[in-house]
Amino acid sequence: MASSPTIGVFALQGDVREHVHALEGLGLSALKVRRPEELAACDALILPGGESSTMHKLARAFELFDPLVDAIRGGLPTLGTCAGMILLADRLEDGIVGQETLGGLDVTVRRNAFGRQVESFEGWLDFAGFDEPVHGAFIRAPWVEQVGAGVEVLATVPHVSAPAGAAGRIVAVRQDHVMATSFHPEVGHDDRIHRYFVDRIVKS
Ligand code: GLN
Repeated sequence: MASSPTIGVFALQGDVREHVHALEGLGLSALKVRRPEELAACDALILPGGESSTMHKLARAFELFDPLVDAIRGGLPTLGTCAGMILLADRLEDGIVGQETLGGLDVTVRRNAFGRQVESFEGWLDFAGFDEPVHGAFIRAPWVEQVGAGVEVLATVPHVSAPAGAAGRIVAVRQDHVMATSFHPEVGHDDRIHRYFVDRIVKS
């Protein structure tokens, strides 16, 4: 791969701009992906936060759904954040009727898992391999209910700031070339998760 990979950002819906900004801050070229030809030009992909059921419908409407499935299954390094985590789950709980996922992660993800009364919360999380905790912003976020044998757990909800029932829940995972977080590393100024993805998955 060229020394500076092109990172695609799924751009039919969601917080695309924030991811593009984070990538450009790392000196990387980001490409907004709305069409299969754009996907084909990428060395890696980010699925942003947003609304996973809308992303699903738009990906179908723009004929991007099957190319995405094939690319991820075929080894394209992929990071999903929040709604992006939902899209990457092989199994989904509490999706809307007919909601499909792209898959790629051998996990069961529960959509809007923190409950209706908890629209959002923030907390400091230990993240595998980082010396300092990560500030996680959770916005109508999913969590991971169950992981398959090949999935590495990178972060769980801290006990200190957790809403009822959420402490210890899995909120960041990695399986080979696919990684996902329930929270939004694209919000704020901490670029460590984007760097983790680029350095340890995209360039490795
Ligand atoms: N609740 C949203 C969904 O179902 C995800 C929220 C987010 O990405 N901030 O897709």
